[in-house]
Amino acid sequence: MPRAFNFSAGPSALPQAVLERAAAEMLDYGGSGMSVMEMSHRSAPFQEIVDDAEQTLRRLMSIPDDYRVMFLQGGATLQFAGIPMNLMRKRHAGYVVSGNWSRLAWKEACKYGQADVVATSEPDGFLRTPEVAGPIDQDLDYLYLCQNETVYGTMRQELPEAGDVPIVADVSSMFLSCPLDVERYGLIYAGAQKNAGPAGTTVVICRDDLIGDGPALGDLVPTYMGYRLQADKSSLYNTPNCWGIYVCGQVFHWVEDQGGLDAMAERNWARVNRLYDYLDQSSLFEPLVEKSSRSIANVTFRCPSPELDAAFVEQAAARGIVNIKGHRILGGMRASCYNAVPDEAIDALLAFMADFEAANASA
Ligand SMILES: *Cc1c(COP(=O)(O)O)cnc(C)c1O
Repeated sequence: MPRAFNFSAGPSALPQAVLERAAAEMLDYGGSGMSVMEMSHRSAPFQEIVDDAEQTLRRLMSIPDDYRVMFLQGGATLQFAGIPMNLMRKRHAGYVVSGNWSRLAWKEACKYGQADVVATSEPDGFLRTPEVAGPIDQDLDYLYLCQNETVYGTMRQELPEAGDVPIVADVSSMFLSCPLDVERYGLIYAGAQKNAGPAGTTVVICRDDLIGDGPALGDLVPTYMGYRLQADKSSLYNTPNCWGIYVCGQVFHWVEDQGGLDAMAERNWARVNRLYDYLDQSSLFEPLVEKSSRSIANVTFRCPSPELDAAFVEQAAARGIVNIKGHRILGGMRASCYNAVPDEAIDALLAFMADFEAANASA
C-alpha cells in the first residue's frame, strides 16, 4: 500500500524521512541496545534527546534566552486550564473568541477568574478572524487568542496591539508553518500532533518573568501544572512523553534541513494559495472563510449540497486522498496542508477536484 495523501487535521502526516529514521532506530537507538520508548528518562542518551530538541527549536524559532521551553503532556486542552492557573495573578484576563478552540479555552478560564470576551466572530459563524478594537485594558493579566482556528480554517496574521499586556497564543495548527516573532508574545503553545510530532506532547514557550515563583492560583494547582517547576526541571519533573519528544526533535531537524521557517512559510502559502485560487474560480466548490482570514494550513470548502460533499469525500478516498471530511461542527471539506504533506498530495487533490467538478458541473 503506498503512503496515503493524508490531509488529516490532527494527528496528521509526519515527514517520511522522520518516520524512516524512527523505524531504523526502533530496536537500537544510537548504540544503546534499546528503543527510546524503553530507556530511562534520567539516562544520558535521553537527556541528550531532550536537550537537542530544545536547542533545535530555539534555533528554528529564534527563541530569546529569557523564554523557557517546556514539553508537557495533556494536549493543548490541558493548557486551557494551565494558562489561567499560572498567569491569572489579578484573576482577570481577556479572550478573543474566534472559533471553537478559543471558545473552549475561554470557558475553561471562566472557572478560575474573570475572563472577558474582548472580541468575537461568533455572529459571523467564526468564518473570519475578529478585529480587536483597542485600547486593551492594561489591567488584564493577559490577552488570549487562538492564532489559527483549525476547524474553521481562519488565521490571524497581525497580532492585536496589546500594550504591556502579554499575548498568550494557541498556535497548535500553525506551529512551525511560518516564523513567529516570539518576543511579541508572553506565551505560545502548541499541541504537537498538528505539525510537530506525535500526539501526547505539547510545546509551551513562556517568558520567564510571567511564571514568577509559582502558579498564580497557588498551592491547589497540581504540582505538574506549575510552569515554574516544569521550566526549572527542563520538562523532567516526572516521566515525560519520551517518545513524543524524540520524534518532535527529529521533526525540528527536518524543518531546519528544509530551510527553516521562512522556507516553510513560502512553500506553505504557495501550496494553499493554489487551492484557494482554484476554489475562487470554481463554479462548484465554495471556499468558506473570508479572504483576509484564510489559514496557512487548513483549507475549508464545500459543494452545493451535503450529498455532493459526501460523494466528494468517498471518491477522493478511492484515489488515496484521505481525511478530507470537514469537522462535524462545520461540515463540507477541510484539507489540512501541514509541513509534512508532500507537494504530490496537493497535486493529486487539485487534479481530483477538477475531475469532480467536470463530472458534476450541472449540480
Ligand atoms: C487540536 C487543537 C487543540 C486541541 O488539542 P489537544 O491536543 O487535542 O488537546 C487546541 N487548539 C487548537 C488550535 C487545535 O488545533
